[in-house]
Amino acid sequence: MCVFSSPSFDHHELVTFAEHQDSGLRAIIAVHNSNLGPGVGGCRMFPYASDVDALEDVLRLSRGMTYKSALAGLPMGGGKAVIIGDHRKHKTPALLEAMGDFIDAQGGKYVTAEDSGTSVADMKVIGQRTSYVSGVDERQSFGGDPSPFTAQGIFYGIKAALQHKVASDELRGVRVALQGAGAVGRYLAKQLLAEGALVFVADINEENLNQVVAMGAQQIGVDEVLSYDADVLAPCAMGAILNDDTIPHLKAKVIAGGANNQLAESRHGDDLRELGILYAPDFVINAGGIIEIHHQRAGSAEKSSDHVARIGTTLSEIFEASEQQGKSTLAVAEQLAEDKFRSPALLYGAAYSVSNNA
Ligand code: NAD
Repeated sequence: MCVFSSPSFDHHELVTFAEHQDSGLRAIIAVHNSNLGPGVGGCRMFPYASDVDALEDVLRLSRGMTYKSALAGLPMGGGKAVIIGDHRKHKTPALLEAMGDFIDAQGGKYVTAEDSGTSVADMKVIGQRTSYVSGVDERQSFGGDPSPFTAQGIFYGIKAALQHKVASDELRGVRVALQGAGAVGRYLAKQLLAEGALVFVADINEENLNQVVAMGAQQIGVDEVLSYDADVLAPCAMGAILNDDTIPHLKAKVIAGGANNQLAESRHGDDLRELGILYAPDFVINAGGIIEIHHQRAGSAEKSSDHVARIGTTLSEIFEASEQQGKSTLAVAEQLAEDKFRSPALLYGAAYSVSNNA
C-alpha cells in the first residue's frame, strides 16, 4: 500500500496508521489541509475489504471535509479517521479507548466526531482518553447528534434549489424521492412532510424504512428510487450513486441530498449540467452537522441555526455563478472553497487556532 501513489492522495498533510494488538484496533487518521484550522471530521468504523480501501476512504473523506468546512466559513481544516472492523462485532470499550489514545497522540491536529459505525456514546468513551472530540455535549439538543442539523441544511438547500429551478420554494405538492431513511433521511423526511411535500422513500433497512413510512412517506423500491418520477432526488444513503449507469435514467430536475461523494467522478457534474439537472454539491448542502459541531466546540450554540440557514444562501450563489460561468455547480463550489483554504495569506496564520475546549 503506497500513500503517495494512491488515486485519492491530494497532498494530504498527515496520514498516520495505528495498530493496537490487545484491543484489535487498526485505524488510519488523515488530515488533508489545516490552513484554516485543525482537521475536523468523523470517525468511521467499517469492515473494509482491504487496507487499500480503508486508505482510499480516509483520503477522500478528509479532502471532502476541507472543502466542506471552508465553504461553510468555519475555522477548521479537513480530517477524517477510519477504524477497520465491523462495528457490530469488533467495537469494544478497549478498542475505542485505544482509538482515543491514537487521536490524542496527534496533539490536536485532528479532532474527531461520530460517523457511520460510531455513535455519540462511542465518542464519550473516546473522550475519556482525549479531549479532541466533538459531538458529545449533552447540553445541546439531540445530545450532540449532528444529523438533525445536517437534515436542516439539506432542507434549506432543497428550497434554494427549487427557488432557482422553478422560481418558487413552496414545498406543498413537491415530489421528493428519498434514498436512505437513516439518521439524516428521517429528520429530512419529517420536515418535508410537515411542509406538505410528497416523500417517496427507499431503504434496504426495513426498520428505518418503516419509521419514515409511519410519518406519512410512501415506500418505493431501492432499485427505482434514483430514476423515480419526482421533482427532487434527495440521496441520503451512500456515495457514487450519480454515475454513467444512473445519470441517463434520472427524472428529477433537482438533486439535493446529504450523502457524501454523490458524484462517482467530477465529470458527472458536467453531465448533470448538460442535462439541465440542478445538482446541489454534497459538501455544501450537507455541512449542517459540521457547523453545529463547530458551534458546540466554540461555545456559540445560539449561532448554529442561523449559520445552518446560510447553506441556502451559499447554494443560491453557486447556482447563479454556475449559470453565469457556464460551469458545473461542482466546479464552481470547489473553486470557491479552494479560494478560501488555499489563500496564501491564511497559510500558517489560522492553523490550530481553535482551542481545545471540548
Ligand atoms: P445512516 O447510516 O443513519 O443512514 C443511511 C441509511 O441508508 C440507512 O438506513 C441504510 O440502510 C440506507 N441505505 C444503505 N444503502 C442503501 C441503498 N442501497 N438503498 C437505499 N438505502 C440504503 O447514515 P446518516 O447519518 O443518515 O447519513 C446518510 C448519508 O449522509 C451518508 O452518506 C453520510 O456520510 C452523509 N452525511 C451524514 C451526516 C450526518 O450528520 N449524519 C453529515 C454529512 C453527511
